[in-house]
Amino acid sequence: MAQLKITRVAQSKYDSVNWDDLKFGYYFSDHMFVSDYADGKWNEGEIMPYGPMQVEPTLCTLHYGQTVFEGLKAFRAKNGGANIFRPIMNARRLVRSSEMVCIPPYNPEKMVQDICELVKVENKWIPSQYGQSLYIRPLIYGTGNFLGVHPSKTYRNIVMCSPVGAYYKEGINPVKIKVEDVYSRAVKGGLGAAKTAANYAASLYAGTQAQANGYAQVLWLDAISREVIDEVGAMNIMFLMKDELITPSLEHGTILAGVTRDSVLHIAKDWGVKVSERNISIDEIHDAYKSGRLKEVFGTGTAAVISPVGMLTYKGEDLIINDGKIGEFSQKLYDTITGIQYGEIEDKYGWNVHVEF
Ligand SMILES: *Cc1c(COP(=O)(O)O)cnc(C)c1O
Repeated sequence: MAQLKITRVAQSKYDSVNWDDLKFGYYFSDHMFVSDYADGKWNEGEIMPYGPMQVEPTLCTLHYGQTVFEGLKAFRAKNGGANIFRPIMNARRLVRSSEMVCIPPYNPEKMVQDICELVKVENKWIPSQYGQSLYIRPLIYGTGNFLGVHPSKTYRNIVMCSPVGAYYKEGINPVKIKVEDVYSRAVKGGLGAAKTAANYAASLYAGTQAQANGYAQVLWLDAISREVIDEVGAMNIMFLMKDELITPSLEHGTILAGVTRDSVLHIAKDWGVKVSERNISIDEIHDAYKSGRLKEVFGTGTAAVISPVGMLTYKGEDLIINDGKIGEFSQKLYDTITGIQYGEIEDKYGWNVHVEF
């Protein structure tokens, strides 16, 4: 493999960061990786200072949204170096997302190498407090300048990094969720399974309305019958009912195949828990709640890992889950996944890509 060209910043921004209050996606590190696509191929790419880029008003992506992204994390490992959590899963999902919006695929193995090189260059930006990490955001977008709805002929792939804080500063707090029965995020045959801008634009209005009413996020139902559960905000959703862990299946193409979702399913199976990927209707949840079988509800995603749901509001009725407290199962999953990520417990699945610096 050819050594990537690296251009370093003259002045690091490191000292301007408040490392005790990082927040999420607020600070950006000194360098980024950039590769361009033209004449039918991606170039080798290079690492350069993070900074503004000039665009023309006719940049096709601004008008037609031909863009995809990813989100993954690097953790400062207990015994030195860093662990990047399951990057090949993200790199492969980026290819699937790309396909859905006619973006040419970026080689997943090459993307993992690029990410490893960038993490080495940015190693001091991986924060050291427990719960903190370096969030890595690959982004690909059309760079053509034209009006008219057709795919771009040129693209750019940028990988940027953001040191992020512990998602839960005062322990894990369960959130209030509104079951959304008016607006839709995605529909069968649409883009729901792609991490592409359109899905997030489609979610803003409902999310903002829910937040104005005191909810953290919305639970999306399928766009046609409004009975079958899809996702929660930008996370996958799971239900612990008696001794069965249930999550919506991926077959409709309306939800994202989360890396955290996959990790939770693996671990739960390993613990001997019955795991079901299937359709779950909001009525089934309501019935399980009434009969006392609904034990725990939680979202899964890279940012929060596990986000317990303390209350679900459906058509004006509040379902209080596990007394509004984090459940034992959710806490154990959180501790297991973060333990693997920080290198504190054995990575028996081989999920971490370890980099030394
Ligand atoms: C990113 C994302 C998820 C979670 O995926 P992870 O790989 O676990 O971070 C779930 N749903 C949506 C809509 C997402 O954008």
